[in-house]
Amino acid sequence: DGASDSQLSAIDGIAKEFDLTVEKLSEIVNHFCNEMDKGLEKSGMTVAMIPSFVTGIPTGNEVGTFLALDLGGTNLRICEIAFEGKGVINVKQQKHKVTENLKTGPANQLFDFIADCIDKFLSELVTVQFENDQSENDKKFKMGFTFSFPVEQTAINKGTLIKWTKGFTCPDAENKDVVFMLQEALKRKEVPVVVAALVNDTVGTLLSHSYKDPDTLIGIIYGTGTNGAYFEDIPKIKKLNKYSNDSEKMIINIEWGAFDSEKKVLPLTMFDNKLDRESNNPHYQIFEKMISGMYLGEITRNILLHLIDRMLLFDGYSSKELNRHYSFETEYMSTIEADESHALDDTKKVLEELLNIPSTTLTDRQIVKRVCQIVALRAARLSSATLAAIITHCGRVESGSSVGIDGSLFEFYPHFSARIKTALQELFGTNADKIKISLARDGSGVGAALAAMLTTKK
Ligand code: ADP
Repeated sequence: DGASDSQLSAIDGIAKEFDLTVEKLSEIVNHFCNEMDKGLEKSGMTVAMIPSFVTGIPTGNEVGTFLALDLGGTNLRICEIAFEGKGVINVKQQKHKVTENLKTGPANQLFDFIADCIDKFLSELVTVQFENDQSENDKKFKMGFTFSFPVEQTAINKGTLIKWTKGFTCPDAENKDVVFMLQEALKRKEVPVVVAALVNDTVGTLLSHSYKDPDTLIGIIYGTGTNGAYFEDIPKIKKLNKYSNDSEKMIINIEWGAFDSEKKVLPLTMFDNKLDRESNNPHYQIFEKMISGMYLGEITRNILLHLIDRMLLFDGYSSKELNRHYSFETEYMSTIEADESHALDDTKKVLEELLNIPSTTLTDRQIVKRVCQIVALRAARLSSATLAAIITHCGRVESGSSVGIDGSLFEFYPHFSARIKTALQELFGTNADKIKISLARDGSGVGAALAAMLTTKK
């Protein structure tokens, strides 16, 4: 109500730049389909389409106890997963924060830290006892390792790190086998654990969700980063020659965060370009930078600063906090979008208490809320494009499929799922109703343990 003409026209201009029409979405879907085909044909493509080497599918009747380790972006999680048959699963877990120092220091320091955490977990929580007459190798726990970074996998328990993402930069880890680095650290610390399977978090999410719902085709993460995995017919994975006659399916880790890093179809704005230029991996993960939890707050912050500099917000005042990179967290956007109070009280708290803006008017707060909506709506609509592309690629538009999604952005961001559904309806009409999207919480732990178990079945 109180917004001036120049404020209104600035916001309209920004909204227009972030708008994704259904025509534009279709163009993105088509380009993504082509990129998937390219990635299946050759390695080293922008959309990497990495074979996971996970080919078995769990039946739900397996019995056994396995460990899972999950190195995501924010936390390190260690789980013991006891499969008790008939779909019953018992999970124990411990979480540790991965510090800036560990993310950017030498790789050995990171892997030693992980080995120490596993050791602590075994001594504090694990009660499984080995029999004296078991062989030395059998006296070790089998562990599935969820490692959520781009990896060139060559076997179920071998994979070299292609490129760090999500703020990790340990300089001496790229191009090395992450299972080997972890196994060496476990050896150094004499921790009785064998890393039996290396899986991406999306692969784990897909596995654990299909354990519950056999119609599952796709597993997705919307967390610190974003990525997806799906079941592919092995003959279609042309770059995997030796498997070409196999009739089974193999999980493909798409690595869609890198989609269109050539900037052919994505509608990038100056706010995206600024974020990319100032990031620790410029020109990489362009798609991820428009969608995931690590970046949405920063895009929003860039827009807010732009409005402040034009004297259209907060009377031209910023704060030391708001001027700091990544200070506007995606979680704040959730709070603000969920704020339905008349005076936007929670929004006021975020701006004035957390970000120390000297004072805000209701109009200021309405503008901030609108900016959050604009940024998050584009993210959700872009997300629908990859989903639509996979469903099209797999010929499942008519028959439908289930999708398991993990990650705080999907779980907590208001309307994220509804916005994806709306976009799918625009693309697919009533066929969109055949796509079942559900939250697959903490699938990566159970999924990694399942992958470790699948290796023992063969
Ligand atoms: P991971 O690091 O394994 O992806 P999460 O799925 O928890 O872990 O994702 C963490 C990311 O989710 C953070 O980058 C943060 O920006 C975002 N996030 C956390 N809480 C919320 C929330 N309430 N609303 C929106 N985004 C959130």
